[in-house]
Amino acid sequence: MPAAEIRPFVLTQVGLRAKANVINAAVRQRRTGGSYRCTACKGRCEVTITYTTRGTVKHSRGQCSTRGCIAWEE
Ligand SMILES: [Zn+2]
Repeated sequence: MPAAEIRPFVLTQVGLRAKANVINAAVRQRRTGGSYRCTACKGRCEVTITYTTRGTVKHSRGQCSTRGCIAWEE
């Protein structure tokens, strides 16, 4: 049996969906930051977003308040 793969929770299917939801919620409101509901743990996720001049996401950084839940910067 192969060794268990250890990867950040944000890269799991549930984590990826929660991250996308947080980003989409902020983008819909054209916010550059805020606290949004995390669908993975039902907690809150702090997000910071910068936009390109065309209005698309240039950079995003997020951190769920729940330890071990989603966190990313890209
Ligand atoms: Zn979370």
